[in-house]
Amino acid sequence: MKQLSLETINIRYPPQNWLHLYTDGSLISREQGAGAGVTCCLFSLYRSLGYGTTSFDGEIVAISESLRNILCHINKFKNVVILSDSKAAILSIVSKHTPSSQTAEITKTHSQLISLNKRIVFQWIPSHCGILGNENADALAKKVSTATYRPVTKSTYYSVKRFIKSTYLDFNKQNLITQSQGKKWNSLHHNPQLIPDLPRNSSVAAFRLATGHDCLAKHLHRIGIYQSPNCPLCNSNQEMDSEHLKICASVAEHNIFEKYWSARGGHFGCQKKAAIVAACPLLQPNFCCGVYTPHGVFCSLLPESTNP
Ligand SMILES: [Zn+2]
Repeated sequence: MKQLSLETINIRYPPQNWLHLYTDGSLISREQGAGAGVTCCLFSLYRSLGYGTTSFDGEIVAISESLRNILCHINKFKNVVILSDSKAAILSIVSKHTPSSQTAEITKTHSQLISLNKRIVFQWIPSHCGILGNENADALAKKVSTATYRPVTKSTYYSVKRFIKSTYLDFNKQNLITQSQGKKWNSLHHNPQLIPDLPRNSSVAAFRLATGHDCLAKHLHRIGIYQSPNCPLCNSNQEMDSEHLKICASVAEHNIFEKYWSARGGHFGCQKKAAIVAACPLLQPNFCCGVYTPHGVFCSLLPESTNP
């Protein structure tokens, strides 16, 4: 990746004709706020943005500062390429639909440079793959953690939106961790890989097996629908759960997700439906129109809010 990127930069923008200007934004913590870093052969700088700013703000300010500063070196270059690892920042600058005060300032400085017969190009580069200029700009942006002065920056609409979203997600995650203590699905917080990025039916099976809400005999027995927790397929007198599925002699499939769907269908599926119908005092004997939901059968006689 590094080699490919450097080749592209050097072929498209030969250093003898182009000034290579690397910019980067970084956010270490919400309290410290974001930092902006800029480096090229003419100057290097960094800037702290203050509390409540985002890494996106850092990227935008880095580009804005880079353009403002090359105005001080106007006779030393003809063409400039701004190399940023933020697609979002570049797209935001070139977008005509959502201009902000920050991007408007960049557009203004850009026009000023164009009027001085300078050529300015924005180029995205991959981050953290060892491109020296990008690594240096990143290190400068991270200097914000040691900065003693932190300005009070007026937050943009985008930053406020990101701030509210991240605060809500943090609160929600903490709440879920508290509520899941002692439960089987607590492991999902520490290992999200338990739910693989596979086709929907496999991911659904993985989720149900990981949480224990799998509608197998043990689960149905626990919630009072099934009379026995034991596996009705192999008659081994073992409780039917995710562990049993791995060794159940009546489920031939090799893959655990296929085993799950195989066990859920066929004989067990019919038994389960009959058990639910028998357990529901409201269902009529001639009931035949139940629709399976992830938790059982939809009972048309129960109020909608009380259905499982
Ligand atoms: Zn079995």
